[in-house]
Amino acid sequence: MTESGHDVEGCLACDLNNGRQDLPGGRIYATEHWTVEHCIGPFGVGALIVKPLRHCLHVADLTAEETAELGPLLQRSTSTIEAIVEPDQVYVCLWSHAGWTPGHIHFVLQPSWNKLSESHEKPGPSLQVDMLRSGATPPRDEVESFAKRARQFLAEAPAVTSGA
Ligand SMILES: [Zn+2]
Repeated sequence: MTESGHDVEGCLACDLNNGRQDLPGGRIYATEHWTVEHCIGPFGVGALIVKPLRHCLHVADLTAEETAELGPLLQRSTSTIEAIVEPDQVYVCLWSHAGWTPGHIHFVLQPSWNKLSESHEKPGPSLQVDMLRSGATPPRDEVESFAKRARQFLAEAPAVTSGA
């Protein structure tokens, strides 16, 4: 599973794309080349994953078409999070290096709030480490409810166009 391809069994991102792995909330949105789903990790309700449908291991390997869809999709997905859970910031990050092995790239879009300063020492990656250590995956019913609203929002929100 180090080769890039269209569907690699045993790759968590591909398994979620193709229904071999349980995905609370289901697929929220898809473009021709990308999919949006709720994060299955411990980053709270409202954390979304944006990833290519194709098994792709490096941002540098994205095609021109995949790249063209990415900016608008990240913008629309973060506005969706903002509209539903009203965070003070939405983190957008991509590591895809679990076990020191390049994996199917996936952006994590995570809502964050200033008030988390009361329970966490530092924001950003430090907050993510805290949340990973807690291992607290969000309640399934809340994830499903968020996914339903996000699906509706993304379907109705006008696509960002390149002006003109
Ligand atoms: Zn994959």
